[in-house]
Amino acid sequence: MKKYNFNAGPSMLPREVIENTAKQILDFNGSGLSLMEISHRAKDFQPVVDEAVALIKELLDMPEGYSVIFLGGGASLQFMQIPANFLIKKAGYVNTGTWAKKALKEAKYFGEVVEVASSAADNYTHLPHHFEIPGDLDYLHITTNNTIFGTEIRRDIDAPVPLIADMSSDIMSRPVDVSKYTAIYAGAQKNLAMAGVTVIIVKDDMLGKAPRELPTMIDYRTHVEKGSMFNTPPVVPIYSLLETMRWVKAQGGVKEMDRRAKERAKVLYGEIDRNRLFRGTVDAQDRSLMNICFVMNDEYKELEKPFLDYAVSQGMVGIKGHRSVGGFRASCYNAQTMEGVDALVKCMQEFEANH
Ligand SMILES: *Cc1c(COP(=O)(O)O)cnc(C)c1O
Repeated sequence: MKKYNFNAGPSMLPREVIENTAKQILDFNGSGLSLMEISHRAKDFQPVVDEAVALIKELLDMPEGYSVIFLGGGASLQFMQIPANFLIKKAGYVNTGTWAKKALKEAKYFGEVVEVASSAADNYTHLPHHFEIPGDLDYLHITTNNTIFGTEIRRDIDAPVPLIADMSSDIMSRPVDVSKYTAIYAGAQKNLAMAGVTVIIVKDDMLGKAPRELPTMIDYRTHVEKGSMFNTPPVVPIYSLLETMRWVKAQGGVKEMDRRAKERAKVLYGEIDRNRLFRGTVDAQDRSLMNICFVMNDEYKELEKPFLDYAVSQGMVGIKGHRSVGGFRASCYNAQTMEGVDALVKCMQEFEANH
């Protein structure tokens, strides 16, 4: 049976990205060697990094003065690397969910941290709105998409201080005004590539200001200066990233990704709102287009397990909600298809008709 992949991360990638990466793993550019076996400094691999960087810059229409680097350690390492490089005295964090809270916790190792706004008291069922951003922050950190709770700041906010964003689960799903940010980072395994590489976009003239000595690997300047080749980069994940960037471009770029995301979300949220068995878990205005969370309506709570079993029997993969929300979560990253969304909607409608 055909499987529809709604995993939250690692998650669905375009089939051709996987196939093209698999080919290069078997025989890299006709060299008779695997992508896994060549030197990262080989003249063959440098073009992969160069093209991936160039495509990220092109797709996000990045202005001059920014660098793109590829590091290991996941977005979680960035929770400490960001403050190590940018926190001078005081940083502000907007607490919109599990990942935002983890980022805030790590920053405390480097200086004063203020929680500028939080929706923790309401179990993150909405974004904080109308909060004041102190003018004396070294930076404000936001999490643009809250993967676990299903809320999203799907716009580039104005901040009176340097803005830093964890875009792990919505990067490349919409046009972004990079000039509004001092740094953007994203673990690859949600919207970009296989796991193992983190993309970091940094504004060059903001580097080197932190009042602490940084270990070489933690200093972004090391990686900017060496073009992500200071040490051995994760070559296979970077290659798969390149393939995804080529795919995004061929599909029509981030504008088209945005259009598709809106189309998918409209249909799926539409069904959640229409179907008497289900309801969404977050305020409608703050709904994520990437991670669509829903639960059984209270009077149908006992149908949760039967619906999950039914959906699985119909080929749905990964729709069980995160334990901190319960219910269901359908992750609809760039590679998700309308066909997948329609198949899930059909499951919901059939299940409703039978109960
Ligand atoms: C998944 C995720 C992370 C953690 O990413 P790792 O690469 O596993 O460290 C951080 N932030 C957000 C928003 C995420 O979705």
